[in-house]
Amino acid sequence: MAHYKVAIVGAGPAGYFAAQALQNLQNDELTFSIDLIERLPTPWGLVRSGVAPDHPKIKTVAKVFEKVATAGNVRLFAHVELGKDISMEDLKARYDAVVIATGSSLGKKLGIPGEDLPGSMSAATFVPWYNAHPDFKDESVDLSTSTAVVIGAGNVAMDVARMLALEPSELDPTDTADHAIAAFKSSAVRTVVISARRGPEHAAFTSPELRELPKLEHTNVIIEKRDIAEALARVGEDIEKDVKSNLDAMALIADQVPAGHERTMKFQFLATPKEIRGEGKVQEVVFTKTGTDEEFSIPCGLVITAIGYEAAPLDGIPYERGKVVNTEGRVAENVYVVGWAKRGPSGVIGTNKSDALEVMKLLVEDLKSPKNAGDISELLGDAVVVTQSHWEAINAAEIAAGETLGKPRRKAVDRHELLGLGGV
Ligand code: NAP
Repeated sequence: MAHYKVAIVGAGPAGYFAAQALQNLQNDELTFSIDLIERLPTPWGLVRSGVAPDHPKIKTVAKVFEKVATAGNVRLFAHVELGKDISMEDLKARYDAVVIATGSSLGKKLGIPGEDLPGSMSAATFVPWYNAHPDFKDESVDLSTSTAVVIGAGNVAMDVARMLALEPSELDPTDTADHAIAAFKSSAVRTVVISARRGPEHAAFTSPELRELPKLEHTNVIIEKRDIAEALARVGEDIEKDVKSNLDAMALIADQVPAGHERTMKFQFLATPKEIRGEGKVQEVVFTKTGTDEEFSIPCGLVITAIGYEAAPLDGIPYERGKVVNTEGRVAENVYVVGWAKRGPSGVIGTNKSDALEVMKLLVEDLKSPKNAGDISELLGDAVVVTQSHWEAINAAEIAAGETLGKPRRKAVDRHELLGLGGV
């Protein structure tokens, strides 16, 4: 019978699925103690600060995380930052294995002139801002423009565009941050353009997301029929199932007669961003029609880029092209990586389950004799740590505060407020 200690850094979906995989790999001969280390005072990662507030079903996966957390062999050390409160070397010296599950939190850059003008921001800022991430609560998000342009044709672009184009009272029964609901209620944005550099046949949206658009009750959604016809002509007969499903979903939207709502979301295909222009702030985005020199411009006061993410580097861990350098999840002796930090920002939340299981199987294969060399608790001194029971108090307080308002929860946005709710 051998007992091993594993530290998982990052309490998001990848971290919880790695812990769950280790729990499931236990047997009469092999057991684990798992310490889950998280920078924020709250766990759940993108389920809390990424998933769109109007998609509450996706967040029900948090029930799985709480089951993992309370199974008996997992401890939460939240509000503890790797590189600040503890080091990778500290962890490597004490644990039989360290698993990096820190995700991809940095927005990719377009690399075009004007990208840093006020009024241009990444979804990596806008999304955590509306989701009450404490580090983004003070971002200035100016919604005093009538037109916003979202760059990118993936599900994050779709989330961002929906949040900007929904009738804001639709957000009242959601867990959107209070400051964001207030900003959306006074927003002047009435047209949101989603711009894709390639055609509809290459869009990275998934069809369930496209199929929910015609159901929006207060927003016109516009796709030009011609764009779909041209895409169909380009793909011909030999069309992949997913592409067909997407084009079918887009054709349904294109066939709709705009309902005359005040708010509109429209899709602009074959638009390669060339420059963001403006005097002191964003005033237009200049595009070329992809594959040609033909230029056109969309006047707007807000640009949000949703073109993918990169992992934030950790000291002493090799990085390349926005990911931790790894071979099937192995990084170095007794160090592993899972989730977006491993494979880049792809797949849905559930993708991390099978991904983490494969890596944890390799971790088990690599195990030698247990180290018995202590754990994180001897490193933290008087650091303020949010444990599972503190988190449960925060969670219960947020849910209770939401109940009276008809929301699934009312998120606290300030670190001190969060610590206070937890009784830390
Ligand atoms: P994504 O799906 O990879 O989409 C990125 C988009 O950005 C693509 O359309 C890409 O176009 C475009 N892009 C990249 N570089 C560009 C550039 N320089 N100029 C213009 N466009 C550029 O990424 P994501 O939307 O960030 O989503 C990340 C992952 O999370 C995805 O797997 C997504 O499905 C998932 N997610 C799922 C949900 C959900 O299930 N509801 C919600 C949100 C996110 P090209 O294809 O031409 O490169």
